[in-house]
Amino acid sequence: MLGHITKGIMTDLRPQQLIASYEAVKTEVMRYATEVGNNHVSLLPVSKLKPADDVQILYDHGVRSFGENYVQELVQKASILPQDIQWHFIGGLQTNKCKDLAKVPNLFAVETVDSLKKAKKLNEARAKYNPDAAKIKCNIQINTSGESQKSGLLAEDDILETVNFFLSADATHVELAGLMTIGSWEVSHAASEENRDFAVLAQRKKDLDAKFGLDLKLSMGMSSDFKQAINQGTSQVRIGTDIFGARPTKSDASA
Ligand SMILES: *Cc1c(COP(=O)(O)O)cnc(C)c1O
Repeated sequence: MLGHITKGIMTDLRPQQLIASYEAVKTEVMRYATEVGNNHVSLLPVSKLKPADDVQILYDHGVRSFGENYVQELVQKASILPQDIQWHFIGGLQTNKCKDLAKVPNLFAVETVDSLKKAKKLNEARAKYNPDAAKIKCNIQINTSGESQKSGLLAEDDILETVNFFLSADATHVELAGLMTIGSWEVSHAASEENRDFAVLAQRKKDLDAKFGLDLKLSMGMSSDFKQAINQGTSQVRIGTDIFGARPTKSDASA
């Protein structure tokens, strides 16, 4: 009996707790952005490996954008949650999964485009399966740390070639929105004010903006390093843990 009541109370506390931590993170992001004079930061809650109920709670609170890392999970959540959610795919992108992603009508952004081939695949699949949906907003993922295990484009030529595709008449169903990076763990946990990886991304933006007459957005900064990212001019921070709490491991979640 008591166990039953306790469980009921805990279940009821989730909305309150989740909304409180979302509001706390949002307040801190906005407060810090104001402090350092960055007036264009948005907060993307990252709901990967968290239940659809959590997303629904924040949706009911007025949040409309969410980030997901796994194609299968995004597809599934999109199918059961409200259709006006703007889904951002922020996980490692595989060529053979571009089709499944592009099929989701309310897939808003793919932030991890790391090859020309994948940019073309997304475009092709959107044109084929969802021709009337909005163009997919794409970020080119840049490997700013140079670590071999990190995804993202590194070579100048590859970056230019991909930008050129997005700016060409061939890109009918995708559009270039900005650049994205994941900072290296060491750099993001170092005491220094300036994050070297974020500085590399900001410089890339500057160069590409000048070369092509663009105003690319920057997606950088997570729970552990969002302040550095805001300080270094990011347009969006992607925050999971600080909002939703610790995640189960991928294998626990898919089991
Ligand atoms: C998981 C993830 C996040 C959120 O990370 P937290 O540390 O939980 O805030 C942000 N960006 C990407 C690319 C991620 O994979």
